[in-house]
Amino acid sequence: MKTLTKNPVEDLKHLLGPDQVMTAEEAGKAYTHDWSKLRYATPLVVVKCRSTEDVVAVIQYANETNIPVNPRAHAHSQNNSAISDGGILLDTTEMNTIHEIDADALTATCDAGVVWQDLVQKALAMGLVPPVLTTNLGVTLGGTISVGGLGVATFRYGSQADTAIELEVVTGAGDVKVCSATQNKDLFDLVRAGLGQFGIITKATVKLRTCKPNVRKYYLLYEDLGQLMKDCEALMDLENSPFTTIEALCSPSMQGTKKIGEGLELGVGVQFFAYWLFPLHLTVEVDDDEVVDDDAMLAGLKFHKHLHTEVLSQNDNLNRAQPKFDLMKRSGAWEQPHPWMDTIVPWNISQVFIEQMLEAFPPNALGPLGQILFWPSRTDTSNLPMLPTPSSEFVVGLGILATVPEFAKEVIAKRIGQVSKFSEQIGSKRYLSGIITYETTEEWQSHYGDVWPAIVEGKQTYDPNRILSPGLIQYE
Ligand SMILES: Cc1cc2nc3c(=O)[nH]c(=O)nc-3n(C[C@H](O)[C@H](O)[C@H](O)COP(=O)(O)OP(=O)(O)OC[C@H]3O[C@@H](n4cnc5c(N)ncnc54)[C@H](O)[C@@H]3O)c2cc1C
Repeated sequence: MKTLTKNPVEDLKHLLGPDQVMTAEEAGKAYTHDWSKLRYATPLVVVKCRSTEDVVAVIQYANETNIPVNPRAHAHSQNNSAISDGGILLDTTEMNTIHEIDADALTATCDAGVVWQDLVQKALAMGLVPPVLTTNLGVTLGGTISVGGLGVATFRYGSQADTAIELEVVTGAGDVKVCSATQNKDLFDLVRAGLGQFGIITKATVKLRTCKPNVRKYYLLYEDLGQLMKDCEALMDLENSPFTTIEALCSPSMQGTKKIGEGLELGVGVQFFAYWLFPLHLTVEVDDDEVVDDDAMLAGLKFHKHLHTEVLSQNDNLNRAQPKFDLMKRSGAWEQPHPWMDTIVPWNISQVFIEQMLEAFPPNALGPLGQILFWPSRTDTSNLPMLPTPSSEFVVGLGILATVPEFAKEVIAKRIGQVSKFSEQIGSKRYLSGIITYETTEEWQSHYGDVWPAIVEGKQTYDPNRILSPGLIQYE
């Protein structure tokens, strides 16, 4: 046992190694915020864990000294849980080995800090692909399994956390546990979409599936949201639909300003408004040189216009957002605040909800590179107690993804927070990767519903000293 001084930086250097521990000053500004940039916080110390043993050492030290720990990967979440105010920020990004891809079992076993992009590259070379991917592949397995990980294939395969088969976890008490649907199931149910509240995921075995080398992609445009949704019901018929991904957007045709009753927070009596159109992007997997009858493929769909069709390699399709991300980086938008909010809306009310939201939401509040995305999805492909969904067969995952200047971030975040509240009033469930508006135990309890007692008990069992990201979930 090494001698500890109770000077956290020195002690953690003893425990891990000097090159794995940084003061807040050494770590720099990047470690003071997440993707939202809504809050800045200065950690006491940043530790870069490279192994399960490192994580155990940090968690045990935190329990002995009662210093809180926030797990952090690339901090692409927007809920302020991957930052720390005076505690230990536990960086998982150097735990990044892909241990095995088993082509027979269709699984991959990886360290939690592996980014999906790296797994995608290796898997595609073997004709395999993770069933669900998020738009941004530069996020980690541990990070998305801890929030859910939703994508354009969620209607078919659930969330990324649903594709986890087995996880190695260092609990908040410092114990190493392997969990799955058949082993330590209570922990498995808590850490998937568990926001890092019960343990640090150190390894994950996730599903893969076989895939064809290319996708044929259809760009359709709808004027009528109701019609798009009707068509999506058929597109989500898992037995008969050939499509592997479904993605929709709310696209503003900007009209200028119109007078409004009370005036915006920005202090004027007018608001920008738009006529909204609804692009729908569908992909079907194809072999090289496969001939596809597009008319047959799109038969029955009542879109306004079929704008474009193209064939993309799987890799290019999975990285389809990269050109936009590059543009955001070149234009400075990548560095701006991103008050993002995602909500899962019951199907039968989603058309009315989206239309009313668009009517009230000033499109310029999204910023030039912001967008409103929606993914029609099913609820029976997901089974995660920590990721509650409305109790309807179909749902819409709606993301309001604003990129805004620093001076406007509070106003826009407030506006988006109002949409969040409105969505919950009509029976939606928030996806908690984005900004969180809950302040009271009642609000958390209401979000999690029947699962709440298991959450409180699980916290007591697996993080009895409440060292993991304190202040995020209000337990009492
Ligand atoms: C441009 C962009 C596009 C995005 N698109 C999508 C999308 O399409 N779908 C979607 O679902 N999300 C999307 N997101 C959100 C992002 O995928 C999630 O927030 C994801 O969790 C971030 O992963 P990360 O590796 O950066 O984790 P972080 O943001 O660092 O961490 C996420 C959460 O998990 C905890 N955590 C991290 N690692 C661990 C671990 N090993 N064990 C336990 N807890 C841990 C953190 O404390 C935090 O609560 C997008 C984000 C960006 C910036």
